[in-house]
Amino acid sequence: MAIKNADRNFIERVFEEAYQKGLSAAPSGHKADYIPELAKADENAFGICAMDKNGEFVGIGDIDTRFSMQSISKVLTLSAAIEIMGFDEVFSNVMFEPSGDGFNSIVKLDTVSNLPYNPMINAGAIQIASMLADNVSFDNLLDFAREFCHDSKIELNEPVYRSECETGDRNRAIAYLLKSKGVLKTDIEKTCDLYFKMCSLNVTARSLAGMGLIISNDGVNPFTERRYISHENVRTLKSIMFSCGMYDRSGEFSVKVGVPAKSGVGGGIVCAARGPLGIGIYGPALDCKGNSAAGVAAMEHISSSLNLHIFD
Ligand code: GLN
Repeated sequence: MAIKNADRNFIERVFEEAYQKGLSAAPSGHKADYIPELAKADENAFGICAMDKNGEFVGIGDIDTRFSMQSISKVLTLSAAIEIMGFDEVFSNVMFEPSGDGFNSIVKLDTVSNLPYNPMINAGAIQIASMLADNVSFDNLLDFAREFCHDSKIELNEPVYRSECETGDRNRAIAYLLKSKGVLKTDIEKTCDLYFKMCSLNVTARSLAGMGLIISNDGVNPFTERRYISHENVRTLKSIMFSCGMYDRSGEFSVKVGVPAKSGVGGGIVCAARGPLGIGIYGPALDCKGNSAAGVAAMEHISSSLNLHIFD
């Protein structure tokens, strides 16, 4: 799907309809409050935008509002980890199976498997953070995030970061459990600190569209032609986003939307649609699984109207 001039009116109409569907769905959701700073978000905020490889852009609503990327950072850290350490090393420390459990669940990690189910849930991302912590600095990852999102203004959201540190005991518990099993081998506080910082990076829906575009464009920034992820690794990344990116709603999202995507409890969703087309969404009212309620409704409409389902 490219945003060609001939199709622009049609695409803009689809986005306007999706925006209305999202607005209608938003009241069924609630903003996250288990990280107190996230409860300050405006529950009515909503924005969707898309960017194609020619730089053509459509956007509607709150597409430049800053919010913390939260679990969407798991896409960045997985990308960095497989590029730096390689597939075999990464996936001997974390699996790639959908967990079917909540994003912060600890149950199967304790009772069923020693390795985290996948890198898109907290346990997996904490394991990835531990592997990165001794190999790369937060500043390097911040630069990576800025380039990957075409957004030099991405910064650490200090209040969200402090809030995560103060209330992150469940994540520390996951890290201690991983350490007790001999999987996590680095310092717990250093690992959690990197995980919390990455969750607290401030992005916009526009930056997420840029990120989705690089992923959908085989890991290459189409404007600079710089490759960030190898073809093999971006294929792995998209597969894991497709099967695990929307927590325990990933199956439903794959069936109804059919686009590799990742959500975060800050209200963001990044989608890497074919075309290549990057789609970024902000809507902090979350469904019971932790995905933007407005964003999921909007994506169902966009995907069916623009034939974006990968099996269409
Ligand atoms: N920082 C959040 C947490 O660790 C990220 C979770 C999410 O976005 N689902 O709980």
